[in-house]
Amino acid sequence: MKLTVIGCAGSFPAPDTPCSAYLVEAGGYRLLIDFGTGSLGELQRHLDPHLLDAIVITHLHPDHFFDTCGYAVMRRYSPGEQQDPIPLYGPVGVSDRIVAAYGGQGELCNPSLRDVYDFRELHSGSFELGPLTITVEQVAHPVETYGMRVEHAGSSLAYSSDTGPCEALETLAAHCDVLLAEASYLEGRENPKDVHLTGKEAGDYATKTGAARLLLTHLVEPWGSKSATLAEARAAYTGPVELVEPGQVYEF
Ligand SMILES: [Zn+2]
Ligand SMILES: [Zn+2]
Repeated sequence: MKLTVIGCAGSFPAPDTPCSAYLVEAGGYRLLIDFGTGSLGELQRHLDPHLLDAIVITHLHPDHFFDTCGYAVMRRYSPGEQQDPIPLYGPVGVSDRIVAAYGGQGELCNPSLRDVYDFRELHSGSFELGPLTITVEQVAHPVETYGMRVEHAGSSLAYSSDTGPCEALETLAAHCDVLLAEASYLEGRENPKDVHLTGKEAGDYATKTGAARLLLTHLVEPWGSKSATLAEARAAYTGPVELVEPGQVYEF
């Protein structure tokens, strides 16, 4: 399995990274997980975006889905043959939210965007996506949000999406090869409950689940600290841990 970090900024783009988007490639299949603000630009450095096979949106916060709008324009109007609608998974109401964000009522084409996206709603449990086995569970965030586990040929990736501490994360990340965990907050502050993890909490989950590797993401730089987040995680987890950056590739 190959994981390419497309964007990893929390909440809004940073000068050096778009918001959340991760390209997962395995068995010839190309899955994009989240499609946050600015990520369609970085994605083009790594892949012709027309070649994506499916998209999973973990929740309907703008930093995880807004570039589905630009991508709709790209798929609809690029020269060449019209592609079939691409499967796009998301929480209940995903189609309405993307259509509202796109706001294309005045367009000549289908305002429902169903010529571009084959919308499918997520429900807790497992399903097959090409050669990948996907498991999603609701995590602790103010809107319906799914953490994920992606498996292929004995390799596994767990992704927290945005979440506070929750049991679902333990199930999803059990003995995974890579735990891609958000670490938006720092310890010692009055962090709201059920929104995000601290670096320490991400490290604790990596230890508790026996994850082989921990990747930290979704830092909100002006309010946090890369070095402090990394130090918190390292104190809680003795395995390999690092902060991700756009363009970084991990194969496992
Ligand atoms: Zn977010
Ligand atoms: Zn969020």
